[in-house]
Amino acid sequence: MEERTINVDLCSTKKEKPKSDQLQFGRVFTDHMFIMDYTDSIGWHDARIVPYQPLTIDPSAMVFHYGQSVFEGLKAYLSPNGEAQLFRPKKNLQRLNRSNDRLCIPPIDEEFGLKAIKKLVAVEEEWIPKAEGTSLYIRPFIISTEPYIGVAPSRSYKFIVILSPVGAYYKEGINPVKIAVENKYVRAVSGGTGEAKTGGNYAASLKAQEMVANSGYAQVMWLDGVERKYIEEVGSMNVFFKINGEVVTPVLNGSILEGVTRNSVIQLLKHWNIPVVERRISMEELAQANKDGLLEEAFGTGTAAVVSPIGQLTWNDEHLFVNNGKTGDVAKRLYDTMTGIQYGKQEDPFGWIEKVKNVCKTT
Ligand SMILES: *Cc1c(COP(=O)(O)O)cnc(C)c1O
Repeated sequence: MEERTINVDLCSTKKEKPKSDQLQFGRVFTDHMFIMDYTDSIGWHDARIVPYQPLTIDPSAMVFHYGQSVFEGLKAYLSPNGEAQLFRPKKNLQRLNRSNDRLCIPPIDEEFGLKAIKKLVAVEEEWIPKAEGTSLYIRPFIISTEPYIGVAPSRSYKFIVILSPVGAYYKEGINPVKIAVENKYVRAVSGGTGEAKTGGNYAASLKAQEMVANSGYAQVMWLDGVERKYIEEVGSMNVFFKINGEVVTPVLNGSILEGVTRNSVIQLLKHWNIPVVERRISMEELAQANKDGLLEEAFGTGTAAVVSPIGQLTWNDEHLFVNNGKTGDVAKRLYDTMTGIQYGKQEDPFGWIEKVKNVCKTT
């Protein structure tokens, strides 16, 4: 039987909170965390909010050896009337379970998972920073904990949620970035784990990222793992191109991670009657569109940056300059609308916002 209650053990002393203008990404964590355990015999159990603390885990725990783990990333925003709110959190919980399925991790009850996140954010409400563009990053994750170095799905797990106040992604306005197209290394292949949010994908991406970072590139753009021909993602973001008035994004093919931001951006474009298609797009086609003067915009999408315009793409010896290195109109409009909805400054026509405070609501 799945346990339905969440025990709360509040800490006696609270940490000092960082100043809003000094916030970075992911370095400071709040006073509490959510944790629940899984064992084969009882299922998920012992859900609790406890003081943020190190874990004691056996060195032979499977996660350390074979990487059986998944994670999510979303944010809590403060609306103008001081209410904490989440952006499409159910999407994250659904994706967590899809990742679980791929990694042979037992599913969690999505409704209960959302309740846990809301309850933790409610406990830590004063940690949501107030300055423009800041938010409270939410990191749910699951690790395999069985002390056994045989290769098999673990029989025990921990589901944990930690929170981190994060600064504005764009401190001096949105600035387009330089991207290197990666021809040697790949992030994922169809049939692999590319569409799951699992740590191993990130471990596999570090090398390429490190090699271009020294040359002033913000990220790499990943090509498909079979032919190194078709565009997949940019860094850990989904990617969009506006070509001759139409917005194109790579179709989900099993190796691309389905972003919540990607899905929202597609919905917004359709709502605005801006043509948008999901299809295969090759680097060759993109370079040709650029030569023909038809490549109007390029941008990445993800929870951290929302929209990240691309001003330059380097592919072998070719440099593609996009929109004179400036942020395009569509990227800007998407950024303004998405953040407007997320921070409750703009109408939410799609019902994307979930208030944190209806923690006790059962439906
Ligand atoms: C998380 C992630 C994204 C973006 O997903 P969002 O839900 O929009 O934050 C894109 N690509 C990869 C590889 C990711 O891990």
